[in-house]
Amino acid sequence: MSFTLDTPLALIKKIDKARQKALKKLNLKTIQDLLFYFPTRYEDLSKIIKISQIKPGGEATILGQILFLENRRSPRQHIQITEGLIADSSGNVKVVWFNQPYLKNYFKKKTNYLFHGKIEYSQGLTLQITSPSYEIYKKNGIHTGRIIPIYPETKNITSRWLRYFIWPNLRFVYKVKDFLPAEIQKRQNLIPQYRALWQIHFPDNFYNLKKARERLAFDELFLIQVFAQSQKIAWQKNKAFKIKFDKELIKKFVQSLPFTLTNSQRIAAWEILQDLEKERPMNRLLEGDVGSGKTVVAAIAALQTISLGYQAAFMAPTEILAFQHYKTITEMLKNQKIKIALLTHSAIKIDHKNIKKTELIKKIKKGKIDLIIGTHSLIEEKVKFKNLAFVIVDEQHRFGVEQRASLVKINRNKKVPHLLSMTATPIPRTLALTFYGDLDLSVLTEMPKGRKKIITKIVEPQDREKAYHFIWQEVRAGRQVFVVCPRILGEGKLEIKTVEAEYKKLKNEIFLDLKIAIMHGKLKKEEKEKIMENFMAKKIDLIVSTSVVEVGVDIPQATIMMIESAERFGLAQLHQLRGRVGRRKEQGYCFLFTDSASEKTRQRLDALLHSENGFTLAEKDLELRGPGEFYGTKQWGLPDLKIASLTDYALIKKVKSETEKLLQTDPELKKFPQLREKLGKFEKLVHLE
Ligand code: ADP
Ligand code: MG
Repeated sequence: MSFTLDTPLALIKKIDKARQKALKKLNLKTIQDLLFYFPTRYEDLSKIIKISQIKPGGEATILGQILFLENRRSPRQHIQITEGLIADSSGNVKVVWFNQPYLKNYFKKKTNYLFHGKIEYSQGLTLQITSPSYEIYKKNGIHTGRIIPIYPETKNITSRWLRYFIWPNLRFVYKVKDFLPAEIQKRQNLIPQYRALWQIHFPDNFYNLKKARERLAFDELFLIQVFAQSQKIAWQKNKAFKIKFDKELIKKFVQSLPFTLTNSQRIAAWEILQDLEKERPMNRLLEGDVGSGKTVVAAIAALQTISLGYQAAFMAPTEILAFQHYKTITEMLKNQKIKIALLTHSAIKIDHKNIKKTELIKKIKKGKIDLIIGTHSLIEEKVKFKNLAFVIVDEQHRFGVEQRASLVKINRNKKVPHLLSMTATPIPRTLALTFYGDLDLSVLTEMPKGRKKIITKIVEPQDREKAYHFIWQEVRAGRQVFVVCPRILGEGKLEIKTVEAEYKKLKNEIFLDLKIAIMHGKLKKEEKEKIMENFMAKKIDLIVSTSVVEVGVDIPQATIMMIESAERFGLAQLHQLRGRVGRRKEQGYCFLFTDSASEKTRQRLDALLHSENGFTLAEKDLELRGPGEFYGTKQWGLPDLKIASLTDYALIKKVKSETEKLLQTDPELKKFPQLREKLGKFEKLVHLE
């Protein structure tokens, strides 16, 4: 049988049931999977020393023969002990293993083995090597006498077994098709992929390991970049309406606002209006902290669009948010003679009056509605526009590939709308470059003047009662409160606060006279919305919730955000939660509770007390915790990075520039069939998520 990279592992080797299950758990199905199952770390067992030179305290690798081995039970009979002597030409040393009695018959006489283990004193002053790993001595050992890989393990699968399993299969690295164009490899001084794959598993030395990591990190980032930039190219093949920038109109509107725009708002609006003038459709992300004033920037662009007779749409992730936008934007544009409609699952309005959905759909199709605000309902099949030229998507992490594709069909004349996505999630620049390679970015870096600082405090356990009392007083004065916990229900670990438990406690023991509600992701969308509605209508004083409250609702009277087990959240996430309260003239408070005494936790939470800048906090988060947690790449529907670091700005820039060069000369990758094939697989993966 001839093997390919897709050959199931079970066909290349007999694997027992338990291990088969474990392999499945590790998501290792084929040879290909195995080759790309990278070690998490390495141990340098390459230096072999003479037995006469070993010293207690550290670990050592020695080369010797077993003189004898015996089994006995420990004095209390609990443990099987195998002990004996290892000798080389310089001397001998005692060796001990526990609960592996079969080892007694494993070692052959007069045969050289490598041993690696801890050197300790046994009784008295004799030294012993404890539970060493072992291997028959040969030139290419895999468990000792070299730099050995340590893999992520699971029950029934050890690193030792993986080494034993992976080593013979490394011959298949030659079958992996190298998708990175040769020219780029040369320019970037990268080693061939087969060599990198070999060296990442069994490096000859640390220099080679470094080169292997460099190559594989480059590959990872390169694929993402090519994917993102190809998306961009594909999107830009569409045609959009050209919307001429009418400076007079915009100036007048800006002057009519009850506030002065911040500098970043001006710049962002200008960038967007520039994009709208082009026939090439815009795809831009407007990033700005909660309260930085993204809505008005979007409204300016919408006004420009509509004033030329085109339609615009504003899409929000929830009904409440859509309704809130409907209210504020109607107010903002009230002197502009614009027809604005609301379209969500449960509310359909024009001029604040309810109308039938079919009616509204008809009007949209005829172009009688200029601006339509709503949830995802507004890009349903049924809804057809006369000339939709501009779409705003609020608080959606990003506009998915599919949704974008659906927009392509939305106008009868085949034109696509310009796209503006908005987010309050601060995305560090390296991340934006990597995962948002297909988007242009506008960032609101400053807050409108006169914003009150939210008072943030870490509350010590002994001050909990005081905090409760303060909260109670605030509620009495008409304010509202969020209590956020990391989990819904208890799962083993007692120190992590749960929504269910806190809800019961607050309701039955602490705030007997307050109206308390519970909210979390397991509730139906409608239930969550109902609770938020009641909260907004002040029928509820306090909501105990998971971080689902994170996304954009403005509750005027909510002034306190209390976060339990705060160490469980990312900094950027805590910052966003904090941004939920104190959005009006009343002073806002954010109380952080933690039972963790660790120095690292303190450091992290302290950062929150000292910074109000979401970007700074996000960068810090990325540095301290890595991207996995809060920036789970899953959020972007992209596979995890195994080798590349998202804090490596230099590398990311290099990859980006190479990708751009490549796609400029060959946008369809006609000359690179292997890259095209790889990209196809990658795309499938993205769609599967
Ligand atoms: P976000 O960026 O979180 O969506 P919003 O657009 O909801 O923020 O704006 C928050 C509040 O700030 C709104 O009440 C808005 O009217 C107000 N606002 C926006 N820009 C300014 C500004 N330049 N000066 C003062 N207030 C502003
Ligand atoms: Mg907003």
